[in-house]
Amino acid sequence: MQKYYIGADIGGTTIKMAVITEQGSIHEKWEIPTNHEDNGEHIPEDITVSLKEVLAQLNIGMSQVLGLGAGAPGFVDTETGFVYQTVNIGWKDFDLAKILNEKTGLPIFVDNDANLAALGEKWKGSGEDADDLIAVTLGTGVGGGIVANGAVINGANGTGGEIGHITVIPSGGASCNCGKTGCLETIASATGIVRLAKEAIKRNPDSLLSNYSSSDDPLTAKEVFDAAAEGDKEAKEVLAYVTDILGMTIANLAIACNPSKIVIGGGVSKAGEKLLIPLRESFDKYALPRTSEACEFAIAELGNDAGVIGGAFLVKQNL
Ligand SMILES: [Zn+2]
Repeated sequence: MQKYYIGADIGGTTIKMAVITEQGSIHEKWEIPTNHEDNGEHIPEDITVSLKEVLAQLNIGMSQVLGLGAGAPGFVDTETGFVYQTVNIGWKDFDLAKILNEKTGLPIFVDNDANLAALGEKWKGSGEDADDLIAVTLGTGVGGGIVANGAVINGANGTGGEIGHITVIPSGGASCNCGKTGCLETIASATGIVRLAKEAIKRNPDSLLSNYSSSDDPLTAKEVFDAAAEGDKEAKEVLAYVTDILGMTIANLAIACNPSKIVIGGGVSKAGEKLLIPLRESFDKYALPRTSEACEFAIAELGNDAGVIGGAFLVKQNL
């Protein structure tokens, strides 16, 4: 009888769920809204009800489900599935694995959402099953996951692999959501790129960039890439700076863990080669030549499915 894994990627707006085969392909996927009432207390019940409904529709019995892997946006104790603190959900000291296990009867494994995305890309995406991999997600913020010797690094209390909060400006950098200043996220996220572009416009109001931002829409990171492709000096300088800092940070990480793959995802990664080529140049400048030789860059392939596929892999890895 065919067995399945369940992946649940819990985000601030929606919970993405999927029934996944043992081989790692998505059999069925769907979304439910994230219920913020009572500090997110009802989320495990919502997941359970929705899962049972979908399994019934698919004629899959609970006995065919091997386990559920869930991603939460925050700091997680992966040994116990205990969530210390979340970003967009009200959970604080929330015993997610225990509650979900009581409700579903399934083995439950929990990790940080960015770590799950890294595992998903490792297993079925552009990570190509690399045992040593760094995944960086450049979106509104900067997320990350580091896989070393086949397992994701969580550390002593769940902050391992928080690449976005590596300090890249020693003092006087822009404020970050985490409470520090000068984090990678303040530079290399879509938000950071737009902030730097707006500063450039102030310095040179005649730049092509200011044409983009003078429209009713707020400036986007994509428009900064577009302006640079059209030859705008300010936009090119902003992106040269961003890729230099990002390449340096990844090179420093790579010297620590010697990955064979570096997978770049998130909205900013849609720039493709326009991002990867300067990033690789910067990386090669800062990494040891031998570290560089071993390492390939790739754009993430799984998009929004990375988290649920990573959830399935987490179950597979732990059973
Ligand atoms: Zn930070």
